[in-house]
Amino acid sequence: MLVFRYLYLIFVITIFTSICHGQEKSETDEIFNDKSEIYFRFENKDISFDRLTRIISIDSKTNKEWVYAYANKNGFTEFLNQKINYEILQHPGTLIIPKMRSHVNIKNTDEWDFYPTYEAYIDLMYQFEQNYPDLCDVFSIGNSEEGRSLLFAKISKNDNEQENEPRFLYTSTMHGDETAGYVLMLHLIDYLLSNYGTDIKITHLLDNMEIWINPLANPDGAYAGGNNSIYGATRFNANGVDLNRNYPDPEDGQHPDGNPWQPETIEFMELADSIVFVMGANFHSGAEVFNYPWDTWAQLHADDDWWQYVGREWADTVHKYGPPGYFTGFDNGITNGYEWYSISGGRQDYMNYFYHCREVTLEISNTKILPESLLSDYWEYNYHSFLNYIEQALYGITGTVTDSITGDPLAASIFIEGHDVDGSWVKTDQLYGHYFRPLFEGMYQNITFSASGYESKTINQVQVFNYQLTQQDVQLVYTGSGINNLSAGNIFSISPNPNGGTFRIEYMGSSEANSKIDIYSLNGEIVFSQNYKFTKGSNYLPVDLDMATQGVYMLKIQTDIQSFSEKIMVR
Ligand SMILES: [Zn+2]
Repeated sequence: MLVFRYLYLIFVITIFTSICHGQEKSETDEIFNDKSEIYFRFENKDISFDRLTRIISIDSKTNKEWVYAYANKNGFTEFLNQKINYEILQHPGTLIIPKMRSHVNIKNTDEWDFYPTYEAYIDLMYQFEQNYPDLCDVFSIGNSEEGRSLLFAKISKNDNEQENEPRFLYTSTMHGDETAGYVLMLHLIDYLLSNYGTDIKITHLLDNMEIWINPLANPDGAYAGGNNSIYGATRFNANGVDLNRNYPDPEDGQHPDGNPWQPETIEFMELADSIVFVMGANFHSGAEVFNYPWDTWAQLHADDDWWQYVGREWADTVHKYGPPGYFTGFDNGITNGYEWYSISGGRQDYMNYFYHCREVTLEISNTKILPESLLSDYWEYNYHSFLNYIEQALYGITGTVTDSITGDPLAASIFIEGHDVDGSWVKTDQLYGHYFRPLFEGMYQNITFSASGYESKTINQVQVFNYQLTQQDVQLVYTGSGINNLSAGNIFSISPNPNGGTFRIEYMGSSEANSKIDIYSLNGEIVFSQNYKFTKGSNYLPVDLDMATQGVYMLKIQTDIQSFSEKIMVR
């Protein structure tokens, strides 16, 4: 029987909520004092969440009466204008004083029942690489706002070779005060590395895939109280921004939270743009649930059956190894994100929609900062699920798309007609032509492989079984031009052309199209660049080439499936 060594002070300060104009500023000042963010709850009634979610960060809606949220000073000032009853709560980052370790030797570490200081974390990550040079590569993808490292461990046998392997991604703690997953990910790295060659399952995973693990996605938040402790951890980054509301959103545009992209967001977006991840998860705490896409809208993911299947597998396994009552909320441990509460700008939807990566949001403990003595228990509850979920990236349909004559790998899209929607299709890895498509078991009709400049090929039937991999290699025939010209009958057209610098890009497609639109001058200088989602049916994007001088410009449109180009004459 575990004894909690810490008392949880929950509702400490109650601030009454009659609001008077003119006093708002001082009220906010008083509440914030020198704090960068506050934790509070407010009454859940007749509230427009669409608007609220842009000014404060809703943490959970677990009961009917109260909604729990975080806010920075600006957001809270705006919140006060809504005249909703609220109560300030003790910040979750200050509920306990965690025991920290300032040095960790991973060779002597069997129990991961501590939190490392920031320096100890950096040091122990590089120890993984030093101790397992054949299996592990550790690197930073860039720095946080305050200059802390965004570290990844890439784990695979022959990690320096590019192989025909799916890539899998775990990241944790993009909310800096949700630290359970932080240590569990360090534990997972250690477990994968130290069991390679002796444990059959681990050996199989590392031999056949690349596993990327980023234990701490928001180091400035986690160490907001200083590098020596996670006491005082904040949800937001150093600029007071919720990183899990800061990504481009399928429904709400490039900046759904109204903030510029943060350094942590930009570094991650660049990674997602350069590496194809097949599956992934981002770990949180504050709830216990497998929260699968979508978060932003009510429509279901094309692979909703697959999501429920892997989610059930996760939760059922956790129930087997965890104590009664753990991970049993919602639909016994799983929920559709939107059904719980809608968010915009989350990374899960960003990765699924724009990068075709099956990323899930995993809430693994109701307590945001677990006492260190409980970390080993939560490891026992969860590690089988960590491994099972990784293994799912090895199942479904896989293959290579190549040029029929040269055998060169192709950048291709693999689209299941009548099934895929909202970015659920997958693409090949551009350099190697490999693709991996997790799918629920069943017979899939009409899978179309297309690449720019090649004749598309459709496979009529492919049978998929759970826990099996179906091989489907495809060769495409080169048809000459790599690019479709915009001509009559095409799904895009320019009107008018020639023009005086303002015109419309018209779209007439049968499905929506995520498009990257670039316009170049003839000397190659970019004069216009925008990502835009055309909806299905007839719609258009107005373009104003501000101050463009007379002449010929080249328009390029890249959608998920095709490329187009056309000359534009500005008079
Ligand atoms: Zn979170």
